[in-house]
Amino acid sequence: MKKFLSLTLASIMVLGLVACGQKAAAPASDGAAPTKLVMCTNAEFPPYEFKDGGEFKGIDVECAKLIGEKLGVEVEILDIAFDSLIPTVMSGKADFAMAGMTVTEDRKESVDFSHTYQTAVQTIVVPVDSAIQGVEDMYGKKIGVQTGTTGDIYCSDDFGDESMERYSKIIDGFQAMKSGKIDAIVVDDQVAKAIVEQDSSSFKILETAYAEEDYAIAVKKGNKDLLDKINTAIDEMKSNGQLKAIVDKYIK
Ligand code: GLN
Repeated sequence: MKKFLSLTLASIMVLGLVACGQKAAAPASDGAAPTKLVMCTNAEFPPYEFKDGGEFKGIDVECAKLIGEKLGVEVEILDIAFDSLIPTVMSGKADFAMAGMTVTEDRKESVDFSHTYQTAVQTIVVPVDSAIQGVEDMYGKKIGVQTGTTGDIYCSDDFGDESMERYSKIIDGFQAMKSGKIDAIVVDDQVAKAIVEQDSSSFKILETAYAEEDYAIAVKKGNKDLLDKINTAIDEMKSNGQLKAIVDKYIK
């Protein structure tokens, strides 16, 4: 638990620092400026990204579209597994990843992060009749997480690999918990709320907040040109109320 908090605090404290030693991105010359940006995400994470009747929706989806508008480009969505997002940005198959992604020190070694646009708390969800009241009751229990998320990384550290049940879609973890296969789920607060709201007779969210985090957009290391543009767009959306308007649509 201590480790969990200190790791998280470390990642919060260094937020906003710009990575050093970046190579300048090739300047987009006239006519060669991109008309489209590919955003990779994992659309299994309401209210940030999800599919509704075949359409991508959510806070991140709307923010990305707005950023695209500000940059004068179209944003195309590539829906992939959460743990493939960073490799996909690194390989250049996507220009950025936006997926309720937490800024961590480890991830900063692979990608560059934009300014923060949301904060989140890792929360613990248990069956309504569970005796688990907090982190201290989770030792020796089966804990469900989404593969490669901070919930996965930190719980694996704190409770050991043998406690972990990993799912590529967190909703599958909730199904497993409903059928008694696992005892708890650690997931981002708004996602927990969105899912538990749909099934409050089965699940409850514990009061104990597990850890606080910051969300940002990830771009390929050294792509300063795109990062600067995204940061300008985020700053503008934050100061003129556009970001809040989008968040308020999805989080009551
Ligand atoms: N915020 C968590 C992370 O970055 C979970 C994100 C997600 O599952 N989409 O690891």
